[in-house]
Amino acid sequence: KRLDLEKNMRYATTNSCQEFEVYYQPIVDISRPGDPCSGAEALIRWNSEAMGMISPSEFIPLAEYLGLINPIGSFVLKEACRRCKYWNDMGHPEYHVNVNLSVVQLLQNDIVEQIAEVISETGINPKNLTLEVTESLAINDMNRMKKILADIKKLGVRVALDDFGTGYSSLNHIREMPIDVIKIDRCFIIDIGKDEFSTAFVKMVAELAQTIGVHVCVEGVETKEQVDALKQTKIQLIQGFYFGKPLHKEEFDEKYL
Ligand code: C2E
Ligand code: MG
Ligand code: MG
Repeated sequence: KRLDLEKNMRYATTNSCQEFEVYYQPIVDISRPGDPCSGAEALIRWNSEAMGMISPSEFIPLAEYLGLINPIGSFVLKEACRRCKYWNDMGHPEYHVNVNLSVVQLLQNDIVEQIAEVISETGINPKNLTLEVTESLAINDMNRMKKILADIKKLGVRVALDDFGTGYSSLNHIREMPIDVIKIDRCFIIDIGKDEFSTAFVKMVAELAQTIGVHVCVEGVETKEQVDALKQTKIQLIQGFYFGKPLHKEEFDEKYL
């Protein structure tokens, strides 16, 4: 299966990424009346002609290992920026788009130039682009990571720390890294309001974020109970099936434009 995946992924990537598609999941602002949409996260989908629908958690790690994440990631970035510019031009100048950047992409020597080029090519307002990075082992080279993120931020782009609270996360990263948004992982939301640790963790991150002037987005909100519990905290942004699943671009436009 792995060999098949590899063969088909190489084919799909050289074939101008036609089998890949970008979906958009709304991010809502619960600090404003009516919980309006504030933008979306771009999430890749691979509809392989040979293998059917393959989820990103299945193919992204292999794409990283094979180095194919660079062309795939460029495709997603350009698509998402183009889409966001369209939303902005269609009466939602405040909508922003979040794009996941693998650490493999971040460590390319010309990543800052690549991002600058996509911004100028698509005409997106850079402040409407948020790049999501995760805390991988590579973050251990803190000085290098800080320099790359600082250079990216000079373009006017925002940076989010994805899946916070899992993996290699450390509170020191929040302090040291030039980030604008902390995305709290879904695992802390599952029993928010019921489990004391999860509730306290979310409150603590919200409090800390407010002190250092960073936004917080909570991922994986599925129920009204979770939303109600989150409204008791200082959380501003929510993403999850309760408000909307990742949607095909046309479906997203139909619902949110
Ligand atoms: P992520 O960046 O943390 O994205 C959020 C994931 O949580 C998405 O899964 C989304 O569909 C899912 N999700 C959102 N709300 C809910 C909810 O209420 N309940 C549940 N159960 N799940 C929810 P998805 O689309 O399968 O993506 C999985 C991961 O794959 C992403 O996690 C991200 O790490 C990676 N990924 C997706 N697209 C890209 C991409 O273009 N580039 C890179 N490098 N990674 C990507
Ligand atoms: Mg993400
Ligand atoms: Mg996440």
